[in-house]
Amino acid sequence: MAQRPTHRLNLYVVPDDPEREVSVQAEQDGLAALARLGVTAGRGRPGPRAETLIQGGFALLRVDRPRGPAVYGNRQGGFHVRCPTCNMPLARPFSGAVRRWKAGSARQMICPGCGHVHDLARLEFAPPAALGLFALELRDVESPDLTPSGEVGEALERLLEGPFRVIASRGA
Ligand SMILES: [Zn+2]
Repeated sequence: MAQRPTHRLNLYVVPDDPEREVSVQAEQDGLAALARLGVTAGRGRPGPRAETLIQGGFALLRVDRPRGPAVYGNRQGGFHVRCPTCNMPLARPFSGAVRRWKAGSARQMICPGCGHVHDLARLEFAPPAALGLFALELRDVESPDLTPSGEVGEALERLLEGPFRVIASRGA
């Protein structure tokens, strides 16, 4: 068996719309479809056709439902956040704005560099990060890219209830 990389790689499949919630029905239907297609076996373990979702498979597939809005991104080493208008680094004001968003405020911040109001989800993240209320989590993968075939892709869209993006997270 191939040796896993030292730094664990997890993927988060996050809805394009940061305010989209997953319904119980969509979660059940999507997970059932992935099981029927052989992508998963019981309890989110990889099934015989796990590689139709991602090359090299995964250790576990689950729906992550944090208690409130979350920022999905790199855990080890974090990520850089910059203003899309003036390019100012915004790590500190961003984390404050995320705390306020989680507490119920609008999903935005004023850039101290240029004074523009920005949607927290539209800042520049490097490596990429995404805001969301839930994500499909694939733990311990070997590839940062999903390769869903037609039916598997449809099952993912059913679960995520629309378009989505994939965020790679190293560490944790
Ligand atoms: Zn700015």
